[in-house]
Amino acid sequence: MAALKLCILSSEIVPYAKTGGLADVAGALVRNLANLGHDVRAFMPLYPVVRRNHPDLKPVPGAQRVALSIGDTEYWFSLLSITYPKSDAPIYFVDCPALFDRELLYTFDADEHRRFLLLTRAALEGCRRLGFAPDVFHCNDWHTGFLPLYVKTLYGLDPLLAHAKTLMTIHNIAFQGVMSSAAAPDLGIGAAWSLLDPGDMARGVINSLKTGIKHAHCVSTVSPTYAREICETPLGMGLQATLRERSDRVVGILNGVDYEEWDPLHDPHLSAHFAAQDLRGKLINKEMLIATANLKISTSQPLIGMVTRLSEQKGIDLLFDALPELLHARDFGLVVLGSGDEKYTDFFAGLAQRHADRVNFITRFDEPFAHLIEAGSDIFLMPSRYEPCGLNQMYSLRYGTIPVVRNTGGLADSVEHFNPGNGHGTGCVFNDYDVPAVRWAVNTVLDWYAAPHSWATLQQNAMAKDFSWSRQVREYEALYRLMISA
Ligand code: ADP
Repeated sequence: MAALKLCILSSEIVPYAKTGGLADVAGALVRNLANLGHDVRAFMPLYPVVRRNHPDLKPVPGAQRVALSIGDTEYWFSLLSITYPKSDAPIYFVDCPALFDRELLYTFDADEHRRFLLLTRAALEGCRRLGFAPDVFHCNDWHTGFLPLYVKTLYGLDPLLAHAKTLMTIHNIAFQGVMSSAAAPDLGIGAAWSLLDPGDMARGVINSLKTGIKHAHCVSTVSPTYAREICETPLGMGLQATLRERSDRVVGILNGVDYEEWDPLHDPHLSAHFAAQDLRGKLINKEMLIATANLKISTSQPLIGMVTRLSEQKGIDLLFDALPELLHARDFGLVVLGSGDEKYTDFFAGLAQRHADRVNFITRFDEPFAHLIEAGSDIFLMPSRYEPCGLNQMYSLRYGTIPVVRNTGGLADSVEHFNPGNGHGTGCVFNDYDVPAVRWAVNTVLDWYAAPHSWATLQQNAMAKDFSWSRQVREYEALYRLMISA
């Protein structure tokens, strides 16, 4: 079948800039689609962290000092490029110091919407200058939500771009890019304002993600269950009706795992490797984790790990009551790596202080330590309120670290509740978002741990699961082809 021309836009892509799963997914799409033989080009902002870590970026001829007006301000951007590791796909960084030279990837600055409007417009202008006519523009999250509308309006008569199909992928519907309707002139679409949501305009707002959902040829999200949840339940966070209007075009494709990075057999961050047939290396990682976390437990006691953004989404509120009770009643260690809201960092810091022998809390972004937690823990706790896909539960499965998850979104699609009776299942799944449910789940998994024979079966089941991107990316490929043929 003919190779596709694909243009991927994302506000973050590993290994250049990352705050969460979006970066992992964007990077995996670029590499895996390119390695299927497609002509993949990706655009992202040139943040200071990229400039610092990649002094070898090459200016793209014909795309230097390009003027672009947003509202009443004229900006200048240049494209610099690099080839994505282990692929032939170019990544184009949009260099616009006036908008992107800020220490954090995301800000609360008044011109936040302009930063990503510029990314979106620069990708379109960049394609023009490169003479690249994508079959599909793949937009990710609110940052790139205006692209489908631009293809219909500003670029609607451009022979190179007007025929492109557009896919809007929602990685987390909580972030919608809502701005004041006073920003409408910044969009640069003139009289096509009428294509914005009239209800929102009447309320004085413009919603970037909603605009993307309304105007894209197709909408996808990162797991089948989350696709249903955002259409049918309050997890749609106000966009349920808009999504339902397009329900024949909304699909869920589970994220994959980059097993080059996340496989205990060759994990670059581990010094002791292991595989399902021989788990001795896992025990060595557990010893190292216990030592690094300064815990006073033995390797025979169960060790629970968490790696997470500390935000309301992640279900930490449930743990305020559950964890102190569980620590009182049961004998286990706990290592938590996470940063975010103060109420959660305070909670874990307090817990670690009160149970210094058994609880360790580290608050920073630490990729190597995240790998050690996955490898050295017995159990991984992920009690999310909602979870579009979630990656850590899939990493955990590969490391024989049994996930305890709530039955929502991608957690529901990737973890199957274990039945010690017939030996089927890969983790512990609880339904209700409440304290008794999470308490039940942790008690249950600790009971399983105490029965070595069924624990070994459970670990083998978990490690046999395959969520590799090479599989999942075929679903995107099929979706692109469906869009093109429609
Ligand atoms: P989300 O995108 O909602 O944060 P995901 O589970 O999809 O959740 O992806 C989170 C990614 O970020 C994972 O790769 C996880 O290991 C990583 N991560 C989160 N917090 C940290 C941290 N403090 N240190 C290192 N990695 C982290």
